[in-house]
Amino acid sequence: MKVVNKNIKVRIYPSKADKNDKGEKIVSINKIESNIGIYRFIYNHELALINEFKLLLVQYGYGDKVIVNDSSCNVLLKMLRAENSFLEKAESSSRQQSQRNLIQAFKRYYDPNLKSNYPVFKHKRNAKDNFRIINNNNNVRIQKNRYGFEQIKLAKLGLIKFKTSKEYRELLRQASNTRDHTAKIKHVTIKKENTKYYAVFNIECIHTPDRIIGPLQQIGIDIGCSKLAVLSNEEEILNLHLTEETEKIIHYQKIMSHHKPKSIRYKKAQIQYNKWYKKLINKRNDYYNKQTADIVKNSCFVSVQNENIIAWKHNKYLSRGIQLNAPRTFMDQIEYKCDWNDIEFIKVPKKFPSTQICSKCGEQNEKLRGQENLGIREWDCPYCNTHHDRDVNSSINILRRGLELAGAAGQ
Ligand SMILES: [Zn+2]
Repeated sequence: MKVVNKNIKVRIYPSKADKNDKGEKIVSINKIESNIGIYRFIYNHELALINEFKLLLVQYGYGDKVIVNDSSCNVLLKMLRAENSFLEKAESSSRQQSQRNLIQAFKRYYDPNLKSNYPVFKHKRNAKDNFRIINNNNNVRIQKNRYGFEQIKLAKLGLIKFKTSKEYRELLRQASNTRDHTAKIKHVTIKKENTKYYAVFNIECIHTPDRIIGPLQQIGIDIGCSKLAVLSNEEEILNLHLTEETEKIIHYQKIMSHHKPKSIRYKKAQIQYNKWYKKLINKRNDYYNKQTADIVKNSCFVSVQNENIIAWKHNKYLSRGIQLNAPRTFMDQIEYKCDWNDIEFIKVPKKFPSTQICSKCGEQNEKLRGQENLGIREWDCPYCNTHHDRDVNSSINILRRGLELAGAAGQ
């Protein structure tokens, strides 16, 4: 049993009106847009006030360090609220959160270890379109509206229609039930992506891993380029073909490069580009999720080599396959799923020569070293004459090394 934070993303459908026919408050597009605006407004105006104050400090010789914390920012927020009545429309926790982001930005700036840049204004063009509501007293939850349909309640803003999977809906119900202590909504971020709206719930849940039935196996995974992964039990996971998506993405990218930004044709192409890009990501993530779930389902130990995938991208022998497929995401998903199900997960250091060692006799075959020898897919061991498939051999070595490392850590 352990406590985990889970983020789930749910599509939401804001309406045009502010109230439904039965007089209930519902979330309209206007409300969301104005909250996104207010989120940015508070951040920018508090930052402007801090900058002014900083100038004064410098002018009168008090140095340039401004103390930015909750109490000083609360004063600024009060000033802003007194002058701008429209800020009252926003959720109070959302106002606070915007300010907290600013405080965090200053903390990072003053932290000598982080060396972050001085906070800058959030511009409409490049700022993320979102705002966050903290769940106080269960005022973010799902509940039935007067027509009997389940909807999300977003504190003061009202109710909103949503769509999600059965599994997520059940989790949301569980988290909304105050008598159930196994799950709790911490906060929700409302996002706008490509004209669509989403709510991302952060849920803290107590998780007991499912007991796994059947024989459990120890698995070593060799992550590659031509194939996504090869397992030590000789299973292969192939890369996904994303030809249609890629062609469309390249096509619209070309159109965009031929037109001026902000022109109508550019914008039209951009919408299509975003659409196809999203499609590609969704398809890929879906595939990875299924594959990683399959791997983790029957395992009790998983070992992966910590590959330097960024370096692959700059390698002329490998880069083409990497652009489309995301081995790093695949690896992260395995790690996350192992953690979730309490399965031991070991990362073997990238220096370990997993491809060169013979998994039978343990001798190292130097002939396989180097980028120019990546093409050798099968080989015979010069010492014990065993015939090896390059990737399977490598994954067996990764498993063995992983077990050694796990043993060393356990002692
Ligand atoms: Zn050998």
